[in-house]
Amino acid sequence: MSPPGEGGSCPICSKPRDTKFRPFCSKRCADLDLGRWLRGDYAIPGAPPSPGEGLSDPDEDPELN
Ligand SMILES: [Zn+2]
Repeated sequence: MSPPGEGGSCPICSKPRDTKFRPFCSKRCADLDLGRWLRGDYAIPGAPPSPGEGLSDPDEDPELN
């Protein structure tokens, strides 16, 4: 049994946390999470998406075209 907030899993990939990168398992996951915040598209699990926003952004990734 683990108390909430301790010994949990990485919020990005659900692997066991690393104390050096908690609450993440690795620098990669920490960077991923930071990147989401910087992009401003961090999604709260369970929260419904805003209508007309955030579902699919045509110019989200210009490298695709
Ligand atoms: Zn992870």
